[in-house]
Amino acid sequence: MIKVAINGYGTIGKRVADAVDAQDDMEVIGVTKTGPSFGCQLAVKKQYPIFCTSDDEERINAFSEQGYVCHGGISKLLEIADIVIDCSPGKMGKINLERYKKSGIKHIFQGGEKHDLTGLSYTSCANHESALNANGARVVSCNTTGLSRTLVPLYDACGDITVECTMIRRAADPGDSSKGPINAIKPVLKVPSHHGPDVMTVKPEIKINSLAVAVPTTLMHVHSIVVELPVNHNLSTESVIKLWKEQPRVIVMNGTENRIPTTAEVMELSRDIGRKWGDLHEIFVWEEAISLIDNKLYYFQAIHQESDVIPENIDCIRALMGTNSDWKDSVSITDAAISKYNGI
Ligand code: NAD
Repeated sequence: MIKVAINGYGTIGKRVADAVDAQDDMEVIGVTKTGPSFGCQLAVKKQYPIFCTSDDEERINAFSEQGYVCHGGISKLLEIADIVIDCSPGKMGKINLERYKKSGIKHIFQGGEKHDLTGLSYTSCANHESALNANGARVVSCNTTGLSRTLVPLYDACGDITVECTMIRRAADPGDSSKGPINAIKPVLKVPSHHGPDVMTVKPEIKINSLAVAVPTTLMHVHSIVVELPVNHNLSTESVIKLWKEQPRVIVMNGTENRIPTTAEVMELSRDIGRKWGDLHEIFVWEEAISLIDNKLYYFQAIHQESDVIPENIDCIRALMGTNSDWKDSVSITDAAISKYNGI
């Protein structure tokens, strides 16, 4: 049984904890909170031992003053765990990494950190093998994960590809009231945006650039993608659809026939099928908008930002612990276990 610590029990941390808890080969040994806030109640309900993100006695004692049992500071948690999943807010990685190195514990960071932090970025379908038995890795962001899910199989099918894409980004997570815009479209004025090039941290062979705009929605991101295939490719629109339908964690669906024309209906679908928190771990691709003209492939895909990276964290644990060398094996174990709590 792999003992997993979750450092940072917020949007991503609480989802990773439940996904770990669902697996037969791993257990949640503890989760951390900065202090006794509302999120502690969820950990109590799930019977996850609570630890403090700090070793400071005063902060540890503050939990009991609010009626929560705190089992100690972060150092104590790291002593009893085999691996830590860092789900702290982005850019805290540098400080936390020092701690993990001192404890000698394996560690996984999230997409809010830069590739350089661990020198190893991870996505299940792109580079599981290269992460086997590594000490640390970064699971790439929701956008990079989404791009990899459809681009890596295309690369594997026809080799050389060049990609131009625009990230139409949701302005904030649904539970975040501090961000915007609320009545504007905000272009990211750094070109190319970091999203496309980040794919090359997991699949350097894919040539890719991106633009990004933030729009006033909290539901999902949408990617508008153009892929240039080699001129002698042997793909057709139909074979691309078939290729993606066979990929794990990709849903290809006709939005017109199924009355799913926008991200609002995609999220409703997810709630209808009983997904926890209304999450959609899969990337949603509108089938009728996939169009291969000569050697250019056009398509749109939607990304549920809070959840597509969750199963990737589970596969990454298995990669670092060296327990499953085949990414598809790990993916099927992960997804079968998650499906027990995730509707159909
Ligand atoms: P969040 O703010 O919802 O949660 C972060 C949690 O970490 C909070 O509970 C916070 O109290 C806690 N925390 C604060 N200081 C800490 C510290 N020093 N050590 C440990 N924990 C601390 O953030 P989030 O959205 O869950 O993001 C976590 C990471 O996941 C970031 O790197 C982010 O970029 C990445 N990510 C987020 C999303 C998303 O949609 N939210 C998607 C993909 C990746």
